[in-house]
Amino acid sequence: MIQTLHSDNRRLVIVSNRLPVTIQKDDDEWSIRAGAGGLVTALAPVVQKNKGLWIGWPGCTEDAPVEHLLDSLEQEQGYRMVSVPLSEDEVEQYYRGFSNETLWPLFHDLLGNTRFSRQTWQVYRSVNARFAETICCETQEEDFVWIHDYQLLLTGHYLRQKCPKQRAAFFLHIPFPSLDLFRRLPWKQDLLQGLLAYDLVGFQTLRDRRNFVQCVRELVPGVHIDIRRRVTRLTLGERTVVVGHFPISIDFDEFNEGARAQEVAEAAWYLHENLGKRQLMLGIDRLDYTKGIPERFLAFERALEKYPDLQRQISLLQVVVPSRTLVPDYQNLKEVLDGLAGRINARFSHQGWVPIHYVFRSLDRVQLLAHYRSCEIALISPLRDGMNLVAKEYCASSVDGNSVLILSEFAGAADQLGSGALLVNPYDIEATADAIYRAFTMPLEKRQRRMKLLRHQIRRTDVHRWVEWFMGSWPALKRSLSTDAGLV
Ligand code: UDP
Repeated sequence: MIQTLHSDNRRLVIVSNRLPVTIQKDDDEWSIRAGAGGLVTALAPVVQKNKGLWIGWPGCTEDAPVEHLLDSLEQEQGYRMVSVPLSEDEVEQYYRGFSNETLWPLFHDLLGNTRFSRQTWQVYRSVNARFAETICCETQEEDFVWIHDYQLLLTGHYLRQKCPKQRAAFFLHIPFPSLDLFRRLPWKQDLLQGLLAYDLVGFQTLRDRRNFVQCVRELVPGVHIDIRRRVTRLTLGERTVVVGHFPISIDFDEFNEGARAQEVAEAAWYLHENLGKRQLMLGIDRLDYTKGIPERFLAFERALEKYPDLQRQISLLQVVVPSRTLVPDYQNLKEVLDGLAGRINARFSHQGWVPIHYVFRSLDRVQLLAHYRSCEIALISPLRDGMNLVAKEYCASSVDGNSVLILSEFAGAADQLGSGALLVNPYDIEATADAIYRAFTMPLEKRQRRMKLLRHQIRRTDVHRWVEWFMGSWPALKRSLSTDAGLV
């Protein structure tokens, strides 16, 4: 079901840090291709249907012929894209700096990794103001503007200054921290005021929503708070901000059907054949200190030590996708992982068996699905995660229904998947080691029962439902929104 706005001249405008494209230069030749990923899959049809547009940074240097490249893709995409160009210095300060060295660690509860810099904060503000200017130039009052994620927390605030009548909604893809953490931020008031400039603010989980409401209660005087089951209403003078939680998801059918393809089945078979007739336990993460990969390696080591019958019978297959490799914390993490994998493998390897297969690269689609399909266990143990889509993709691709998901209780996905997964505290190495053993020895019938529950849950609340749900919670939009089947 695709959401449509009733009036012909009312468009949906998506705004995100990055446009859903990849632009690159090979042998002096520029090329552009459409981006993939769950968010694009879910939003693109809605934007197309509403003759909308997507605004964002194209992710390339300023010398690229961006307008020309975007125009060439417009026909294929079915909607227009508008670029917000950023200089190298702005990318450094706004994106790598304030977004990824301040907001990212702080919002993931990792105060120790958080850096506070007035300079990066100022560039963050000016880039957010630039996004607002572009939105103002490109939209009309009747349009609905939906802004995404932590790089653009203040865009709504600047938009309200420049175009006071423009309605805007915001969704935060990462967690929102507790009051105790949030209050450390020197610019906490500005960020809260920024978020309160939106008409609808969405979080991933109830905990994130509660954290935000508590911060507003303690730090912003004069807000009336009306907490209801589905949404909270914050009233500031004449304005009301609706705050809700909307756990993002994946396109279940795409993974479920993709994993059944013949080439995936063959790749899955080869993977197992290469690694022997033992259980495979999968980890797939971007290189990121929030993902708890060192703790995972230590838990696996502890499991091999505590339960010797695991030795030679199970391998951990850890895929680490390179990410933010220019940020020093990420470079250090890579070295830690190399060291740990080397030490554990040296300690336990036997002829024909290596405990940890660790690869540092991304997988193509067929390989990704083959990994999901063939590994009997997934150990997904972030220290903190907004949602964790890999957990949902793993279950949706588990077409034989025999696999076990071990999931961190600090991933947003744990709220929905807690009844079928084995939940662990990733800081508790001993308990995680026990969960590995429990998964390894879990009887088939129990695995199938749990996986059925997980798949049912993910199918029921897929990413298309997420879009419907978010847009349907927008009071102004609700009145003018229709689907193919009628009014929401
Ligand atoms: N992914 C990918 N290539 C890979 C491995 C993973 O495109 O080689 C995708 C994966 O399918 C998932 C996303 O990366 O959609 C990771 O999302 P998640 O929410 O788990 O974590 P994030 O990286 O957003 O923190």
